[in-house]
Amino acid sequence: MSTVQVTIESVSVPTFVLGILSAVFLFGMFIVGYDQGHLFNVVVGEQAFDDLYLHELYHDLRHVSGFPCH
Ligand SMILES: [Zn+2]
Repeated sequence: MSTVQVTIESVSVPTFVLGILSAVFLFGMFIVGYDQGHLFNVVVGEQAFDDLYLHELYHDLRHVSGFPCH
């Protein structure tokens, strides 16, 4: 007579974690879409692609921090 032991492991992700990750994902998509001009080019046209406010902000922060870049 033989005995077989079966282990069933159940792993689940809590719902609030999925909510937090979804919010981070959507916020990231908004930031990238905003910075690259893809969100507001429908409203303001080609100017949205030239207004790289976040890009310039982080570029200036890099200069203020003392890191040379160009
Ligand atoms: Zn620079």
